[in-house]
Amino acid sequence: MLARPARARILPDVAPERMHTIDVTEPPEEFISGDQLTPYQTATKGMCWWCGAIANSKEHKFKRTDLARMGRESELLWGSDDELVRIRSNRKSKIVKFQRNLCTECNNRRSQPFDYAYDKYADYVWSNLDRLWRRSKLDMRQVFGENWQVDTLDLARYVAKHIACRMASDGYPVPPQFGQFLDGAATLPSVHMVLFKDPAMWELRRRFIDQGIEGDGLWMAPATGAASPSRGRLTMFSSSFTLGYIGFMYRWDEDASSVDPFYLYRKATLHRRDRLPDQ
Ligand SMILES: [Zn+2]
Repeated sequence: MLARPARARILPDVAPERMHTIDVTEPPEEFISGDQLTPYQTATKGMCWWCGAIANSKEHKFKRTDLARMGRESELLWGSDDELVRIRSNRKSKIVKFQRNLCTECNNRRSQPFDYAYDKYADYVWSNLDRLWRRSKLDMRQVFGENWQVDTLDLARYVAKHIACRMASDGYPVPPQFGQFLDGAATLPSVHMVLFKDPAMWELRRRFIDQGIEGDGLWMAPATGAASPSRGRLTMFSSSFTLGYIGFMYRWDEDASSVDPFYLYRKATLHRRDRLPDQ
């Protein structure tokens, strides 16, 4: 649960003699959490959130290729909200997949370019984990080569698909903007999406290496949300997922007025996780 920050008075950037304040404070809304979110979990079960067909396919929370990179299946640990469990089969385990909320066509052919871009990105991250800590930017041309502009957008669409699947899996309707972005819209308004490096995970990695252990993992942070009783729906959904210590933090916020996502840049900022908002 993330409480919405108090709305500020905004001073327009004009000459002082013309300056006036615009009070954008809305009547206070009560934001809720936990079981109180249940009334907003109104997604239609069993339908593909992208095309509306019958949902008969489960998207992986983390890709099988990422899981396979980390070693033998029996050695994998899955960390999620507050559980750490051993995965027996990374192909079959329920815990590595979202609930059924896409159709086979959307989860395979339609989203193949996004999966492909993500694989390239993940290859780059896994093979550069020793170096990336010292970087303040991730150069998409190094990640993807000359086709970086197309691939960076496709990577963002992979992240958007992940967010939408997670929202749908938790029972929340997916805002139509997500499907429009996957269909080719240039941006995904109202969704903050940034890259980070997590100092705590980096420290953990170093400690593991000192002990001769390969300890890189895949992590999904707990999701937080806010709902507006007056609008009768969820208005914010936020979380992150991490490969090793490099991750994506995202927040869909119905009221976001402008966003500055990573995919608008060739050299995307690699934020320190501890300097980003908690949620
Ligand atoms: Zn579909």
